[in-house]
Amino acid sequence: MRQKGEPKGKRKLGRGAVIPAVLALAAVLCYDAFLRTVTVTESGFAMDAVVTVTVKGNKKDAEAAAKEALEAIQSLEKDELSRFLESATVYQANANPGTAVPVSADLNWLLENGIDLQQKTGNAFDITLGAVSDLWDFNGESPQVPDAKAIQALLEQDRSLHIEDDCLTVAAAGALDLGAVGKGMACDVAEFPRSGSNAVREAVVSVGGSVLLWGSRDNFKVGIRNPFGALTEQMGILTTSACCVSTSGGYERFFEQDGVRYHHILDGRTGYPVQNGLASVTILTRSGAMSDALSTACFVLGYEDSLPLLIEYKADAVFIYEDGGVRVVACSLRPLSFVITDEAFHSMDSGLLGA
Ligand code: ADP
Ligand code: MG
Repeated sequence: MRQKGEPKGKRKLGRGAVIPAVLALAAVLCYDAFLRTVTVTESGFAMDAVVTVTVKGNKKDAEAAAKEALEAIQSLEKDELSRFLESATVYQANANPGTAVPVSADLNWLLENGIDLQQKTGNAFDITLGAVSDLWDFNGESPQVPDAKAIQALLEQDRSLHIEDDCLTVAAAGALDLGAVGKGMACDVAEFPRSGSNAVREAVVSVGGSVLLWGSRDNFKVGIRNPFGALTEQMGILTTSACCVSTSGGYERFFEQDGVRYHHILDGRTGYPVQNGLASVTILTRSGAMSDALSTACFVLGYEDSLPLLIEYKADAVFIYEDGGVRVVACSLRPLSFVITDEAFHSMDSGLLGA
């Protein structure tokens, strides 16, 4: 019964009703926090590059996914791909030529696809140039053009890779170098739950010159670096859907001698830095490892000889020349647009192939 002075319609909650009410409120707040989408970023360092993992989703799962992705990338370097860390399979295989070293399923896949691309490019792309790159010493204090005979001797060595029963044998010490595919592969090991209770909505992973775009949007935007400018300078913007984007350019590591610039991407057929008028090549494709491998391979091969590969791998590409010319080739069914934002660059003929 309503007491005197008590407002009409307002009922006193008994002690028993308070606790369920508080619990219900807590449940609503939790549900709200669960649904609220936040953007979380984790940064670190791996493969001589800055790694940034950005994940969109509910706070708890986005944080966990970003952390796990960064850890997976750092483990990939430490346990498998590094030529410089003793803990890595590649280091062990290079240090023990002629000895079979166990490899993971992922590394097996990477090696087989690398060897396959090597054959398709007539060795222009070559994952056994490690000792030749060491001779050039691009990371050293005072690198110099090596002796031509020393380059030739290393090229003529048996540098074959043998894979059998999930084991790898390297014929020549120090030959295996997965530097051309590592950063792209890092994008592949960053996995994000698409469904289930801990699903995240979108993710972008960047490892040096490789970027993973993950999610159902078809308007991800990626800036393409100005090959003649500072690290953060862009010359254009790609808009596309989920895929991996990798860029290879002669600007990453180089030295100058007698007015000539020598950079770290070698033509596997000659052992010398590629000089074909290209400043950079960007490749878009589903697999991170293949986008990275193709960016190096197409940089070495040049535009014309790259076209069959782009069709075969259903990849899109942006070729940037040293004179500022830009060619876009689309061989996938992915939505793609490219806008030049720096007037120092100009569009050349662009083609729609394959698709
Ligand atoms: P970055 O690693 O600088 O992003 P790339 O993906 O183009 O650029 O890879 C270049 C690296 O690949 C070199 O530092 C070297 O380790 C290795 N490399 C150089 N030339 C070749 C080649 N022709 N084929 C395969 N790997 C190469
Ligand atoms: Mg590459």
